[in-house]
Amino acid sequence: MSENESKDFIRQIIDDDVASGKHGGAVVTRFPPEPNGFLHIGHAKSICLNFGVAGEHSGKTFLRFDDTNPGRESEEYVSAIKEDVRWLGFDWEDRLTHASDYFDELYDSAIRLIEMGKAYVDSLSADEIREYRGTLTAPGKDSPHRNREVAENLDLFQRMQDGEFDEGAHVLRAKIDMASPNINMRDPTLYRIRKIAHQNAGDKWNVYPMYDFAHGLSDAYEGITHSLCTLEFEDHRPLYDWFLDQLVPKHRPRQIEFSRLNLAYALTSKRKLSALVEMGVVKGWDDPRLATLAGMRRRGYPPAAIRDFISRIGVTKKDNMIEMGVLENSIRENLGDAAERRMAVLNPLKVVITNYPQGQTEQMVAMNHPIKPELGTRELPFGRELFIERDDFMEDAPRKFFRLKPGGEVRLRFAYIIQCNEVIKNDDGEVTELHCSYDADTRSGSDNSDRKVKGTIHWVSAEHAVSAEVRLYDRLFTVPDPGSDDNVMDNLNPDSLENVNARLEPSLASASEAVQFERLGYFCPDSVEHSVEKPVFNRIVTLRDSWSKIEKQALAGN
Ligand code: ATP
Ligand code: MG
Repeated sequence: MSENESKDFIRQIIDDDVASGKHGGAVVTRFPPEPNGFLHIGHAKSICLNFGVAGEHSGKTFLRFDDTNPGRESEEYVSAIKEDVRWLGFDWEDRLTHASDYFDELYDSAIRLIEMGKAYVDSLSADEIREYRGTLTAPGKDSPHRNREVAENLDLFQRMQDGEFDEGAHVLRAKIDMASPNINMRDPTLYRIRKIAHQNAGDKWNVYPMYDFAHGLSDAYEGITHSLCTLEFEDHRPLYDWFLDQLVPKHRPRQIEFSRLNLAYALTSKRKLSALVEMGVVKGWDDPRLATLAGMRRRGYPPAAIRDFISRIGVTKKDNMIEMGVLENSIRENLGDAAERRMAVLNPLKVVITNYPQGQTEQMVAMNHPIKPELGTRELPFGRELFIERDDFMEDAPRKFFRLKPGGEVRLRFAYIIQCNEVIKNDDGEVTELHCSYDADTRSGSDNSDRKVKGTIHWVSAEHAVSAEVRLYDRLFTVPDPGSDDNVMDNLNPDSLENVNARLEPSLASASEAVQFERLGYFCPDSVEHSVEKPVFNRIVTLRDSWSKIEKQALAGN
């Protein structure tokens, strides 16, 4: 395969355009979010694509807020979106714009359309307009106002903007073709009355442009060469081109559609995410269970891993559902390489080393990374009382159980081999403590430590360990496509968050980055609630893919 053939179809188109000197070889793209919610993993695909292709051609990318819906949009979302794009690793430099920056030009363009006889003020109600529009199989019919004179249209449109009419009294529509097989071409609305201030444009306007009208023209004003958007806009492309044909014949951006990213068990709709946040089902837009960029950041997903995931899934025109395991594998790969190892016990069981001197502490030497010695070592305090993981002990263990069992031996990682001599239980028969003995000749790293046992388990010193709240996340939904259901609440997983009181090796109190808790998974201090006094950790991802089986079953429909 040549380099070009291995590229996605959008990159091939752009390569060809650059090669043929179209737009003087320039590549200018934009990422156009509506500031009505936080960004999600789907947006990451669009961001990586738009900034990615421009970067590959030394081009430019605009971050343009599509703020044509005052009332639904807010400054909070604007700053969250900026933070997320930056975090994902992209820089719009001085190219931060808003559709509202062009409200004057858009308004003038609307007047030009009226003057050309290509737009008119319609006074039908919203219901009537819908009725007149026709259906996929039946053509629409002309509004009785369609043939208003230019002068009357200009006058009415001016008075709409002057605030003389109530919302809904009139709209400005393009005059295209009420019989077009493409419903988008049946005299689409260009402007509607909204008597509401705008978060960016202030209280100047009583009419606001529709997305379709604002979008293509904004693209043209900014000199966008390739306007990359998702497939639902395919049917809007003739309209996109129509506006440009009428109004900006000189610079012609090209709209190209690609399929949305759908991630199994996750919601990728701002509207539905917003509902979850408002209902208090999650703790906020940055809840680590959400596939929002803010949630994934708080969860501890490295931005480079998200970019890697996006490049792996590619860009096509085919709708599909990506398994969560694919994303998690990118996370694991990134962290497996980068994250230092630490010891933590999530479900502690006390171990007393009865032959270890009272009051003695030794510093064990632990590697920070098994295959990257350059990451160095750290000291781990070892004492007479330890915690191990409760399920690393089994009283009635099968023969092949190589962790701790009565009479059995196990190696404590970076420390000694111990043997379990006595199991202490409470009145309910629950195991509360193990009494063990250690073999002083088996200290890890010492000369006579070559005695081998089959199992190695992790541990922390009871005296030195710090208590921490560790949050174990599971998928938020019980179905792979929660967004397809109108009531997302019906499909919530009641066990999506488990809080455990864990014991961590002391160095973790001051951790600031993602680490691997040996044998357990990758974890990071919670960016909001963690403190040295009260450590709080999030599980980023488990060590192994626990999803593939669940997802394969669910996606196969059983
Ligand atoms: P939502 O339904 O979540 O509100 P949207 O498409 O309305 O999504 P916008 O703010 O309009 O959100 O999206 C900004 C850009 O991101 C658009 O170009 C859109 O096509 C793209 N985008 C949105 N969702 C996805 C997705 N799931 N996969 C790829 N691109 C997406
Ligand atoms: Mg949208």
